[in-house]
Amino acid sequence: MRIYTSHLIGRNLALVLHGGGNTSVKISVPDLLGKERIILFVKGSGHDLASIGPNGFPGLILENLMRLRNLESLSDEEMANQLRINCIRADSPVASIEGFLHAFLPHKFVDHSHADALLVLANQPNGRKLVEKALGPNVVVIPYFKPGFDLSKAVADAYDSHPSAEAIVIMHHGIFTYGSDAETAYSMMIHYVNKAERFIDEYIDRSRLVGLDINDSKIQPNDLARLVETIRGASSFINAAGVRQRFFVEVRNQPELVKASLSPWAEELCHSGVMTPDHVTRTKNVYVFVDQIPDEDAELKKKIDTHVSDFRKNYDRYFESQNSGEKSNLTKLDNSPRVFLVAGAGLVALGFSVKWARIAADIAEHTIRGKLLAMAMGGYRPLPENHVFDLEYMNLQQQKLERTEEIELQGQIAVVTGAAGAIGFGIADCLLKAGAVVALTDLDETRLNKVVEILSGKYDPTRLGKFVFDITDYSTVEKAMVEIALRFGGIDLVVPNAGIAYVSKIEDMDPQRFTQVMEVNLGGVFNIIKAAIPAMKRQGTGGNIVLISSKNVFDPGAAFGAYSASKAAAHQISRIASLELAEMGIRVNMINPDAVFGTESVSSKLWDYIGPDRMKSRGLDPLGLKEYYRQRNLLKVSVLAEHVGNAVVFFAAEKTPTTGATLPVDGGVPAAAPR
Ligand code: ZN
Repeated sequence: MRIYTSHLIGRNLALVLHGGGNTSVKISVPDLLGKERIILFVKGSGHDLASIGPNGFPGLILENLMRLRNLESLSDEEMANQLRINCIRADSPVASIEGFLHAFLPHKFVDHSHADALLVLANQPNGRKLVEKALGPNVVVIPYFKPGFDLSKAVADAYDSHPSAEAIVIMHHGIFTYGSDAETAYSMMIHYVNKAERFIDEYIDRSRLVGLDINDSKIQPNDLARLVETIRGASSFINAAGVRQRFFVEVRNQPELVKASLSPWAEELCHSGVMTPDHVTRTKNVYVFVDQIPDEDAELKKKIDTHVSDFRKNYDRYFESQNSGEKSNLTKLDNSPRVFLVAGAGLVALGFSVKWARIAADIAEHTIRGKLLAMAMGGYRPLPENHVFDLEYMNLQQQKLERTEEIELQGQIAVVTGAAGAIGFGIADCLLKAGAVVALTDLDETRLNKVVEILSGKYDPTRLGKFVFDITDYSTVEKAMVEIALRFGGIDLVVPNAGIAYVSKIEDMDPQRFTQVMEVNLGGVFNIIKAAIPAMKRQGTGGNIVLISSKNVFDPGAAFGAYSASKAAAHQISRIASLELAEMGIRVNMINPDAVFGTESVSSKLWDYIGPDRMKSRGLDPLGLKEYYRQRNLLKVSVLAEHVGNAVVFFAAEKTPTTGATLPVDGGVPAAAPR
């Protein structure tokens, strides 16, 4: 029942958003010697109520926590320590910072949410009176306290002096309900949140909410993509370790957000601060308002650069003014914005992972909706920024933002063409392993689905996307680039890998098929490189192009003219790209693999096609053919798709200042050595 009603609360976005809110239950459990003890099972930090299971609830020895209620105060560090050392299992997650609060309330079941409706009321000029009026006499309302020991004591004291209260509201934070069974605690939550919603409904001045006509001001996807790429580049920064931190982007453009972005309140919606300090860790306290998207890229970049630099200056000022007195030893967090409201376009939210960008977007969406209601009711009056700062820089809160792993390609967005083939699959696998987000593209949707399915089982599915298009058609490729930008935020790494083979002597060659091979193997490479350049330029953060070329470029074979010639041309166009793109910090390198056979799950299309012919000409079976190629190279190794993938990761990680280079991944074929 505890898990069931936790899910009910967690899945209702009007109550809690991503990891917000918490629930608990107190149960008698025998220890190893058979002695019964009351254990408080409370939501663990980093778990989401929507999907929490039994392991998400660390068990704490209630008696030990209760003893501490007599303390005058308890530091955040010591509180965290107590939550750890009083846990009955060493492998449990750390209990929520509201763990003591759950301990101090006497009820078996305790539920806590950050319901939007209560935040709308609490953020009114006369918020406290309105909350009391809306919820009635059986609710105790206490002022805002930073989550922690003081808040836990204040809530417990409030309950002790009003033991008949059915709920406790903390201004600018949320509501606690409780009961001897899960149903009572949950129904009280719903009862009081409904009351708040109905109150707002009655109280609100509807005429101030009526909509605008948004039909004329719809922004085209192409312009939105330009904006997103520019924002992503301008907001990225070099961290203390000297590594570039890039963001992922989530775009939201539901009609009501577009309306909000065009309303006379748009600017105020951005600058008036979070509805509850808890949101600051995901969205920062203020958003950036962009009034229009200029047609010229240079103008757009100038505009966004100015917005981001103003945001950073303001953030630094806020940090300097708050980081004083006893708090003066704090380390400043990054000063980049997380949310942009764009007139006519809606919301653009940023995060260090795709998931975090979505969380920021969800919170911003609810915030804008809530603020509009608050403004239509009377006004929006959030907490002063010292409270916001205290929460943003609270040790426990900073821990909650699970550190992003420092892996090689963290933050990078890669596009791999021909991802449904053996080498493309191997490359995508290696890129995902190295921390990148990967757009897998191919013309063959059936095969691509299979690859996406395998990789989604191995990695967080939010880190990969499927894009089906024909690389020989430039306008289609351009459109796909827009889709990728709107899905993830932009492009840092392009891996032109798609290719087709054709075995024929020149004398017998079908001119049409020759043209087709050139269109895919050369035209496709040209198209994807050309289409990626504007996006990379708008980001202004460099990038990499790694062409999957071929051993045949240096060491061609008879009856393989169309393939070898097209690959040689693609190699050459990539070398030219390295000359032209260096000034933008974009590196272009080539990888020359040889004889990469697929795996059982993803075969090589190339070898499916040329294998039988090669076997026939050499009188070999499939295994014999693999063995033949193994014995042919100096190192006597089978070349795997993974080896090619490792080479791509090497270039994308920019470990050496290299561009225009060719790296053979062929086990050593002297005739194919670059010269
Ligand atoms: Zn809370």
